Amino acid sequence: MSEFKLLIDGKLEAGDAVMDVINPATEEPVAQCPRASKAQLDRAVAAAKRAFPAWAATPIDERRKALVAIADIIQANVPDLARLLTQEQGKPLQDAMGETFGASAFFRYFASLDLAPKTIEDSETRKVQLRRRPLGVVGAIVPWNFPLILMAFKVPAALLAGNTVVLKPAATTPLATLKMAELIKDVLPPGVLNVIADANDLGGELTKHPDVRKISFTGSTETGKKVMAGAAEALKRVTLELGGNDAGIVLGDVDPVATAPQIFNAAFQNSGQVCIAMKRVYVHESIYDAMCAELAKLADATVVGDGLEQGTQLGPLQNKAQFEKVLGFIEAGRKDGKIIAGGERARDKGYFIKPTIVRDIEDGSKLVDEEQFGPVLPVIKIKDGEDALARANASNYGLGGSIWTGDVDKAFDLATRMDTGTVWINKHAELAPNIPFGGAKFSGLGTELGEEGLEEFTQVQVINAAR
Ligand code: NAD
Repeated sequence: MSEFKLLIDGKLEAGDAVMDVINPATEEPVAQCPRASKAQLDRAVAAAKRAFPAWAATPIDERRKALVAIADIIQANVPDLARLLTQEQGKPLQDAMGETFGASAFFRYFASLDLAPKTIEDSETRKVQLRRRPLGVVGAIVPWNFPLILMAFKVPAALLAGNTVVLKPAATTPLATLKMAELIKDVLPPGVLNVIADANDLGGELTKHPDVRKISFTGSTETGKKVMAGAAEALKRVTLELGGNDAGIVLGDVDPVATAPQIFNAAFQNSGQVCIAMKRVYVHESIYDAMCAELAKLADATVVGDGLEQGTQLGPLQNKAQFEKVLGFIEAGRKDGKIIAGGERARDKGYFIKPTIVRDIEDGSKLVDEEQFGPVLPVIKIKDGEDALARANASNYGLGGSIWTGDVDKAFDLATRMDTGTVWINKHAELAPNIPFGGAKFSGLGTELGEEGLEEFTQVQVINAAR
């Protein structure tokens, strides 16, 4: 029997099957987790559909209060939720606490937004008003790198707009999400939020379910394409937050000693398993050797270990498949460049990899061109910013990117020509709930966060009255 439960129609229930969730630091099971059947998914969608009319008609102030109540509960339970998150995801406890607190803050932020009708024209001939109506049942699908914060990109926005939700965490990281569902279950009317867990087999079913009106998906580009295809039949809305291959462009006026720690954090946070991690860094030839040496020094000094151990700075890769994939990227780095730090697993047990720096490598190597999603950073030598920009833009991905220089005008000029959803200047991978976020090209479709993110959970309705 699992101590974790699904949340369907306001009630906690066992899954029709169970599955183990593995701690990536120990390779031992953390807990047994309920695994929903297709019939349970159907009941979750049916409950959400039944709950929709009343929730949509609930005044927005009441919906706001519910979001604040959820934020309070998550915040009050940060230590327990974070511990679970570390055990299933691997990240250091301190980072898990930050993620869990962040999730509560995102609920609070969305509770502060409004969806007031807008008057487009009020003239002698007509009165035209734009309103935003909820869509219906939203399917929210989340990956394994940031289970709670990425959930909080979607769920509060969908609920505030008046939609009901079926939430599905990733198969390898469902526990903190299920625990959160248990804690908040009485805040919302039955069926408004349903949470199921699967063994990576129900995402497609949720996507093509005829009673789901929108899919908000975060995950890989490959799966994102399947989501779009699956949503086509019922012509449902999709928001896709997909993979990335963010470039950092470091110009010659930068101090390598001062900047290397920021570059290192941007690339290695969460052991590189961040959609907007810096995944390749283009460094001006005048500071290339110094920057490589600094990055290698930082990598060698980093403490890799179990996220529950004091002093751990980087945890393991989240799952075995990703661990093996990243080892493959390291081999590509060894073949196409020179490894100057790391380059191997860190412990005999657990999916640990030492932070790895690869220099003397060029575009065209798999490590530069593809998304490694792990703790290995290729450092590429450039002649100038234009050269780097052309290489950064040559990618199919277009999630984020950054420019590092003291010349702000030059940075802005390059930034406006970078083909990505976000460009940071002298920083990388900064997200906030009020700043819209989304990818260009193969990195996604649509926007999350901010007012624009909220609006994606609505249908525009125009009321045009004759005078
Ligand atoms: P994934 O695509 O394998 O899985 C993501 C989710 O989709 C999981 O919940 C999974 O069960 C579900 N799923 C699997 N098959 C499905 C299908 N056919 N239809 C619908 N859903 C399905 O991704 P992952 O490996 O868990 O996550 C890593 C990827 O996510 C990386 O590429 C990373 O860059 C990306 N990511 C993007 C963002 C962003 O905001 N752009 C954020 C985090 C992660």
